[in-house]
Amino acid sequence: MDVQAYAPLISALVALLLGLAIGKAWERYKLRDGRWIDRRKVRDSQHYVLGLNFLVSNQIDLAIEELSRAARVDADALEIHLILGNVYRERGQVSRAIQVHQGLLQRPKLTRLEHSYVLLCLGLDYKRGGFVDRALEAFTEVLRLSPDNQYALLYLQKLYEEQHQWADAYRVRRQLVDLNGPDTQPRNLAILGFIENAMGMEAAKAGDRDKATKHFESAIAHDAATTPAHLNLGDAQLAAGERAEAVATWTRLIEVSPERAHLAFERLERLYDSEGQGRQFEADCRRFIDGRPQDWRVRMALARHLSRRGEPAAAFPVLLEALEQNPHGLTVHQAVWDTLRQLSLDSALVQRYIDAARSAVFFLDPHVCLKCHYRSTELLWQCPHCHEWNSFVEERIAAARQPSTEM
Ligand SMILES: [Zn+2]
Repeated sequence: MDVQAYAPLISALVALLLGLAIGKAWERYKLRDGRWIDRRKVRDSQHYVLGLNFLVSNQIDLAIEELSRAARVDADALEIHLILGNVYRERGQVSRAIQVHQGLLQRPKLTRLEHSYVLLCLGLDYKRGGFVDRALEAFTEVLRLSPDNQYALLYLQKLYEEQHQWADAYRVRRQLVDLNGPDTQPRNLAILGFIENAMGMEAAKAGDRDKATKHFESAIAHDAATTPAHLNLGDAQLAAGERAEAVATWTRLIEVSPERAHLAFERLERLYDSEGQGRQFEADCRRFIDGRPQDWRVRMALARHLSRRGEPAAAFPVLLEALEQNPHGLTVHQAVWDTLRQLSLDSALVQRYIDAARSAVFFLDPHVCLKCHYRSTELLWQCPHCHEWNSFVEERIAAARQPSTEM
């Protein structure tokens, strides 16, 4: 998951360094243009361009080979060594990357910008190698040199998040929000909301309910769509005996994030059940479903409630509607069978289920393209979407219980 999350960051950084490097190379040619041209150097700089090309096309070994040659020819070129170090790091050779980047720091005449980029790369090396303190130090130093370096802020935020230092993560994220223009604000605020929610959960764990409540409220104020903050706020309110407030909080979640409504309904069901107000829960669910017919999760919640209440005959049609909306959901099919068993496998109802399943859009024998994830109901030899040959595999869900591989 980490790799996934960082992939865009890393490619952005590589792109940035490429830009920096290409700009530098251009500068050098321009400077040399009109004066005398070092023919040997111009020829040898092919290694550099080739190396960058290999890097872009993800042929890492060849890239290292060419970049190393370029670095030998032009030992002064900072950007080549910078990139070479980054490639070592991305390949997992962290100590080598650190060695290269530390070597660059020893250079006598680094500009402020160069200094901060070398430190940024070194910080990434440390982070990759698991040297958290040194990485924190490096990113902090980058920010001392250039306070609005967004890469340093972003990496710092992620490091603090990984360490669960939520207050620090929040402070850094706040700086990023202040730096960015209004167009990127919504997403920035959403992330602030999630960090603030984490701060609230930490306070709740430590038993400080007031502090937790303040954080949850503030998270919702950042972004009303911070779903877990609504759930947690309602839990905290209920624990403090504020029943009406808890219901209002969960009801608000249903309004602002209807696609997550089932999470609020689960809590509401527990509450209403404990008060013997099942009818109220049923009415709320049905009103919600009327306004949002595509929702299958709330239908599942309602059907589960009806079954538990001893009314499987009322649950059954609700489940068939859920099946219509999500024919692939194994949990829906399981719930149908549980309910059918409660109804003593009434053969007319079983037939209704079979008909409903048959008419639903359904991959009866699903296959998936490994390259582009195109799905097909049968095995194909060439993908109609990405045109790759022989790229289909049977799509299977992993068994819930894997045979033990330990010992
Ligand atoms: Zn494909």
